[in-house]
Amino acid sequence: MNFNEYKLCPEIIKSLDLMNYISPTEVQKKVIPLVLQNNNIIVKSQTGSGKTASFGIPIIELLNWEELKPQALVIVPTRELAVQVGEDLFNIGRFKRVKVLTVYGKTSITHQEKELKQKTHIVVGTPGRLIDLIERKSLDLTNIKYLIIDEADEILNMGFIEQLETIINKLPIDRKNILLSATMPDRIKLLASKYIKEYKEVITEETKSIKETIKQEVYSVVEEDKINLLNDLLIKENPDSAIIFCNTKQKVDIVYDELSKYNCEKIHGGMEQVDRINVMNEFKKGNYRYLIATDVAARGIDIEDVSLVVNFDIPVDKEIYVHRIGRTGRIGKKGKAITFVTKYELRFLSDIENLIGNKLTVTKKPSVEEIRTLRRDFLDKMNTIDKEKKSKGSVLNKEIIKLHINAGKKTKMRAVDIVGTICSIEGITKDDIGIIDIRDISTFVEIINNKGEIVFRELQNKPIKGRIRKVDKKDI
Ligand code: AMP
Repeated sequence: MNFNEYKLCPEIIKSLDLMNYISPTEVQKKVIPLVLQNNNIIVKSQTGSGKTASFGIPIIELLNWEELKPQALVIVPTRELAVQVGEDLFNIGRFKRVKVLTVYGKTSITHQEKELKQKTHIVVGTPGRLIDLIERKSLDLTNIKYLIIDEADEILNMGFIEQLETIINKLPIDRKNILLSATMPDRIKLLASKYIKEYKEVITEETKSIKETIKQEVYSVVEEDKINLLNDLLIKENPDSAIIFCNTKQKVDIVYDELSKYNCEKIHGGMEQVDRINVMNEFKKGNYRYLIATDVAARGIDIEDVSLVVNFDIPVDKEIYVHRIGRTGRIGKKGKAITFVTKYELRFLSDIENLIGNKLTVTKKPSVEEIRTLRRDFLDKMNTIDKEKKSKGSVLNKEIIKLHINAGKKTKMRAVDIVGTICSIEGITKDDIGIIDIRDISTFVEIINNKGEIVFRELQNKPIKGRIRKVDKKDI
């Protein structure tokens, strides 16, 4: 089966093709038609199953491009997830020219408010910041047709229920709702039945695919030996890319210091938001080989090619285990997950085994001899691995050029002025113009369909709003 069967617009098919989405995943097969037929749905599906695109594709298909006010609101639990979901939706809607705005706390709210004054189709955000924007009357919800609550179980775990309800109560009644969750505890069902009259339920197979795609091992260890064992296992497994989870930020700092001789980074809730986002981006690009993290990186975060997850500390909450190891073995790839257990933590291990429905293999530590022979390969890889991974969106940017025009709101520049001038260039229509972002003294406009060079050349001598403007090319 392929995506053509859903009769999606050619712009979406083009993005999917370029991103190499060849056939829909299980959750997509179930969810896409239901959303296209305007159903409310609640979806239980494992992270990494293609959930984002399962709602993103049909919603982007259904959006009215002409409309100025936001039509879809996506609520997510963490800032990292907001960034990722926002990027995924942006990529899917790249050629339909869909404007996605991602909002989250501890970043400039005035910038987000300015963005919201421009045409915005989808808003993705964390509950607190969404409420701030609603209260400041910057986020207009009157035209919201789709509410998506992603990782709903985590939103509730983080104690966001009140905020969530505040937002829901401000939305138009006739909207459609999509609630997605990796687990489906009673509180989620309760939330669903309180706010959604009739809904269809979609359940995808969870633990089976984990068993198939992720090889799981357990090492019995005393606390003081964990660092040595980790060092040995990194040599033995020699992964291209690994995430090492600890239960506290103090532990992350300790492990990070121990591994700092390697190419690694850390992420935890005690770090500044900009640093957290930077670390995730750099890790995604492959600039660091190991990421040492607390559970801020456990949920939903999608990084290609993480071949090993180490639970340096066994998670106390069994469901966190599933989320953490789900960072490896992403769609179509195999992964490995290693968990350290001390003798005081055996009950956490049996909780996990009950949840996933099988016993985990306790593995023997590698011998000194074994590590000695493997060290050479390890060092070789260490010296060769530093090639950069390409970001997923970069394949979509090939036909797009972003132009910077040296005039903005202060000179009363409006989108129609830009569109008018660009469309007066021979061979260019409004379909070649992507997202227009008008700031105070400058404007950014994307030109798609390989027409960027022509527009760039012509604008050197063509007046926009009565004057020749300085126009140059910008990196995307
Ligand atoms: P998610 O569960 O939304 O985090 O998605 C997991 C990963 O799968 C992301 O990297 C997506 O870009 C990718 N993905 C989603 N749908 C497909 C598909 N149909 N084919 C290939 N990759 C996909």
